[in-house]
Amino acid sequence: MPPIYDKPTTEKYDYVVIGGGSGGSGTSRRAASYGKKVAIIEVTDAPGGTCVNVGAYASIMWHAADLREKIMYHAKGYKLEGLPSAPKFDWASFKTQRDAYIRRLNGIYHNNWNREGIELHHGYGRLTSKNTVEVTLPEGKGKYTLNADQICIATGGSPTIPTEEQIPGASLGIDSDGFFALEEQPKRVAVVGAGYIAVELAGVFNALGSETHLIIRGETVLRTFDPSLQEALTPWMEHSGVKIHKSSKVVKVEGQKGQTLTVETDKGEKVEVDTLLWAIGRHPCTKDMGLEEAGVKLDEKGDVVVDEYQTTSVPNITAIGDVQGKALLTPVAIAAGRKLSNRLFGPEKFKDDKLSYEDIPTVVFSHPTIGTVGLTEPEARKKYGDDAVKIYKSNFKALYFSMIEEEHKEPTMYKLVCVGPEERVVGVHILGLGSDEVMQGFAVAVKMKATKKDFDATVAIHPTSAEGK
Ligand code: NDP
Repeated sequence: MPPIYDKPTTEKYDYVVIGGGSGGSGTSRRAASYGKKVAIIEVTDAPGGTCVNVGAYASIMWHAADLREKIMYHAKGYKLEGLPSAPKFDWASFKTQRDAYIRRLNGIYHNNWNREGIELHHGYGRLTSKNTVEVTLPEGKGKYTLNADQICIATGGSPTIPTEEQIPGASLGIDSDGFFALEEQPKRVAVVGAGYIAVELAGVFNALGSETHLIIRGETVLRTFDPSLQEALTPWMEHSGVKIHKSSKVVKVEGQKGQTLTVETDKGEKVEVDTLLWAIGRHPCTKDMGLEEAGVKLDEKGDVVVDEYQTTSVPNITAIGDVQGKALLTPVAIAAGRKLSNRLFGPEKFKDDKLSYEDIPTVVFSHPTIGTVGLTEPEARKKYGDDAVKIYKSNFKALYFSMIEEEHKEPTMYKLVCVGPEERVVGVHILGLGSDEVMQGFAVAVKMKATKKDFDATVAIHPTSAEGK
């Protein structure tokens, strides 16, 4: 195994990065590529951060769920005989295999850093001045200080759980980190929340055969997404078995961890489950880091306030990734981190390098998946006025489902939000088979300011869903 440092190896580092997740790794590696002396301080013993350990990579569970649905509902239509009607998912052995894969990824991160001369310091990083970071080693093994010209905060975020004062019994629930630690598949589960994580995890549980309740405050899931996506996905989730408790808030949880829990809503419903999972958002890891003492401004949520160049209120301290509260997505953190190092340490041509936070494409691994980029219809109407906005929308069934029983034909929805006389496409919102894969190409078009005419002038690929654009 490559070395883990437990003392400074130089009087002064060029760059000290607190947090070894996607953003921290991206910015460190780019800085090291310019010959800079870099140290990463990481509190966990699992390099890679949320994405690798308890996020996107761990969401490989979605593929297991997708495969099971295909075997159960689609294989028959394609005359694949002899398959079980409801395959049992071996949660425990899949978890062992998934954990081993993630450990391999942790090792790859560490090896890359080591090969590129980046030191990994395993401990808790805390600013003691604008140029010094104190590292507290685990298990009371001591403390030391790293001096640096530039410091980057890349500590990410953690799932939020209501306090016991807010909701008595809330601590009986788990969060998305707890989902990845589950040793067994719960027979009955309640997921609270309506965002990415709630939709993705409720979908996985449901498709793998757990009785799944989704408790949401509104009438639809994904309320920050384009309304057409909300309207298409919410009923389909219900149709495929997720019991959605709408306009409901959890008021109390009773029972014991590991046994039956009773989740009570403000509508007086009592839902009995084995596992309760909170997916109501995330908060930044900025507590007890000496940030404000060093002059780094935080907003009311605790997010680090940065300018368009990722610089905080202290000129030599920057922040990237989830900790700055904007676009909590791995590729955003990596891109922002690399551009930051280009600007700080790269050649003159990069002296203004920065990430544009406009038109960032994203995918929700729902069943079926969602892909989205740019403005939603309400955002476009607000920005450009009703008269300037033109919507092109189609709902259809993908060819794949032509061989499949009516009740299992998943919906497909393609929507373009266009503005102005030239009909520039400012938003693309799609739901349906393959949306996750096709979104990247549409995002390039939106980024290049393509018009509806450009979309129409591009010869369709037949027979695909994307030709319905
Ligand atoms: P989100 O911010 O996406 O969603 C949380 C939702 O929970 C809110 O939109 C809100 O919806 C609801 N909510 C908030 N507070 C409460 C409450 N007290 N009680 C009940 N419901 C509540 O957070 P997530 O945790 O789902 O995900 C965090 C981030 O992680 C996302 O922003 C995303 O960027 C990233 N992520 C990305 C993924 C991907 O790219 N595929 C996958 C997973 C996460 P409402 O107002 O409707 O109640």
